Amino acid sequence: MAKTIIIGSIGLDDVKTPFGDMKAILGGSAVYASYASSFFTNVGIVSIAGEDFPEEYKNLLTNKNIDMSGIEFKGKTFRWSGEYEYDMNEAKTLNTELNSITEFSANLPESYKNAEYILLGNIDPELQLKVIEQLSQPKLIAMDTMNFWIESKKEHLIEVIKKVDLLLINDGEARLLFETVNLLDAGNKALNLGPKYVIIKKGEHGALLFTQTTHFSAPGYPLEVLKDPTGCGDSFAGGLIGWLAKTDDISEPNLRKAIIYGSTIASFNAEDFSLERQKTLNMEEINKRFQEFEKMREF
Ligand code: AMP
Repeated sequence: MAKTIIIGSIGLDDVKTPFGDMKAILGGSAVYASYASSFFTNVGIVSIAGEDFPEEYKNLLTNKNIDMSGIEFKGKTFRWSGEYEYDMNEAKTLNTELNSITEFSANLPESYKNAEYILLGNIDPELQLKVIEQLSQPKLIAMDTMNFWIESKKEHLIEVIKKVDLLLINDGEARLLFETVNLLDAGNKALNLGPKYVIIKKGEHGALLFTQTTHFSAPGYPLEVLKDPTGCGDSFAGGLIGWLAKTDDISEPNLRKAIIYGSTIASFNAEDFSLERQKTLNMEEINKRFQEFEKMREF
């Protein structure tokens, strides 16, 4: 049984940054998030990929013990292309081809229905809703999204936000969704829709946690090597839910730790393209960087 399940995209990305121009590399929100989560917990993916999805990429996931029984293989794989300039906080989307995602049924395998920790990663909010409806005993449902869905399916997105415990969203998207320049205002508007926790991600500048009564600000990690931030938001979310599932503790102090574990894995993810850095990452490195984060906050 997968204790944690993650719905999201599986993609082939074309990514251009000042440090390289890569074609058809492994990407997708479910891929980054499940890989990050697998450092802490058993995780199952809910997604669709095409018949063109390379065997080598499947092996990468199965070698990490990621449960692939919730993945359908049909048609053509989702494609995304994006570009970053020297400010690597915001990707400029050049093209999105949903391909087989438009045919995805999001029916959960029986063994996924009693999952306790659920991440509704960035994908069509109608599919996120469908997953919620099939769950029998969720302990924590977290969700993420992006501007593509805010602009195309805002009403469905709001419906999902009303049903989750934790909303993850980046700063630009929070401003867009809640029509405000002020992040505190956006956080409060999000909390008023129902989630107990709202996390606003600020790229390399860290993340903010809002609850009805408290705030927490996580720092960004000053990276010496930064090649490609694609998937950092998903890796943050995956690391966070993985830590919560491993510890089975959704109290606010533990959520703060989960935010730092998520930030730790996201920071490693930016050191190289696709999953190249996460592929060689180990727990010793994760714990060492976690401790550096702790030291950064002492004053
Ligand atoms: P992030 O950099 O964490 O925001 O996520 C990057 C990943 O999101 C890329 O690997 C893309 O394949 C994937 N992605 C881009 N656009 C979408 C979309 N509209 N729906 C789902 N996934 C997407």
